[in-house]
Formats: sequence, C-alpha cells, structure tokens
Amino acid sequence: MTPVLGAGILVGVLGLAIGSFLNVVVHRVPAGLSVVRPASACPRCGTPIRSRDNVPVLSWLVLRGRCRDCAEPISVRYPLVEAATAVLFVVVALRFLPSAGADGPHTAAAFVVLVGLLYLVAVSVALTLIDLEEHRLPDRIVLPMYPVLAVLLTVASALSGDWGALLRALIGMTAMGLGYLVLALIAPQGMGLGDVKLAGALGLVLAYLGWGPLAVGAFAAFALGGTFGIGLIVLQRAGRKTGIPFGPWMVAGAWIGAFCGTTLWDSYLGLIGLA
Ligand SMILES: [Zn+2]
Repeated sequence: MTPVLGAGILVGVLGLAIGSFLNVVVHRVPAGLSVVRPASACPRCGTPIRSRDNVPVLSWLVLRGRCRDCAEPISVRYPLVEAATAVLFVVVALRFLPSAGADGPHTAAAFVVLVGLLYLVAVSVALTLIDLEEHRLPDRIVLPMYPVLAVLLTVASALSGDWGALLRALIGMTAMGLGYLVLALIAPQGMGLGDVKLAGALGLVLAYLGWGPLAVGAFAAFALGGTFGIGLIVLQRAGRKTGIPFGPWMVAGAWIGAFCGTTLWDSYLGLIGLA
C-alpha cells in the first residue's frame, strides 16, 4: 500500500467517525443540548443505540434504515452526512497533504495546517446544515473556531518560521470581520451577526493560506449566494425579502478560495497587468 493511499483510508475513516458526531451536533446544538450526554437513543422507542448499530454508514445499511427494536425508519440523511464528511476529509487531505520534497519543519507545519483545515471541514458541514434548517449560526460552533484555529496556525508558523503568514491571517480576520460587520449594519435583513463572527474566522484561515485564497474566498461567497438568490427570484420561489441563509455560501466560497484562490488570483493579477 502506498503512503498516500494509506493516509487517504485513515483520513476517510476519521471523516466517517467525525461525520457521525456531526449528526449529533446538528441535532442537539441548536436545541441547546449537550453533545456528550445522554447517548443517542431511538426517538420512538427510546432504546439506546447499541455500539454495533452505531458504526457510520454500515449500520444504517445493515439495519436497512430502521431501528432494530421498533422498526422506526432512520433518515437516510445520517449515513449521507457521514459519507459526505468522509469524502470531504479525503479530498482536503489529498490537496493539502505536505508535499513530498519539503524539509522536516515545513512538513510538520503543513501537517498542523491540514489538521486546522479538517477541523474547518467539520465546522463547515455542521454550520451548513444548521443554517439551512434554523437560519442561524450558533455561537457554540462559531466562537471556538477562533482559539482552535489561532493556536494551530501559531504552532504552524512557529514550526515553519513563516510569521508573515500569521500576520496575514490576523489582517484577513480583521478585514473579513469588519467587511461583514459593515454589511450587517447596512442590510440587517440580509446579514446577521452570526455571519459576521463566521466571516472573521474564515478570513483567519484563508489569509493564512494567502492573499489569493482570501480575495477569491470572500468574492466567491457573494458570487454563489447572489447567483442563487437571483435564480430564486427569477423562478419566483423567493421574494426580495425572503431570508436566504448566507452561511452555506460563505463556507462554499471559502473552500473555493482555499482550493483555487492562489491560481485564480495570480491569473487575475496577470490579466490586469499587475503580475
Ligand atoms: Zn426504536
């Protein structure tokens, strides 16, 4: 087995387990419940889920989507969230895996950044589902992003010696946060404080990766959200005042920025003759 294949399988299994936990987070955090206690139980008959019936994706398939005790249907959404998280974990890991030629300190730094990005995947999945359903971005998920990401990115900079990236991250956090704060003050019906808090955290990560990821990530959110919003109005599914959650677009835009921001930004600068 090649090292990359081995790492891919390991990250995929980790993604399945995290996806399983995210199902609990999405269900309980908006209701203000603990994500640790009590253990999951069938909502109909109350029987606690046995550990052998709690294996991501597989248990749902073995049980054919029904509770073992009362045959209450279990939504297909649970295995889908687990599978999607696993796929996203693998895709992000393959893209941001430390490059083979890098020296020890830079490999270690890239690995720490990758841990931060996998954390961002988990947060992205949870916030997207909660914002679509509840039209809010809970503080219990958004606010911990700041200390978690700040610590990981500081460790990465300490390892690589690239303190410029950390300074860029702080500038990106401030710029994104302030930009969204202005929008929330101008158009409070379209943008909430939850969006502002998320924007700062996304700006932190994106700017750490580079100015290109920050610029493209910020722009892509509005390009995606705007296109979707106009589409809904054209299809007359939404009025101008319908509250469309913006969190999922912020998250999707951020990932476009993370994946292709540097390339897109460099070609844009080349196009306008600045590079
Ligand atoms: Zn049951």
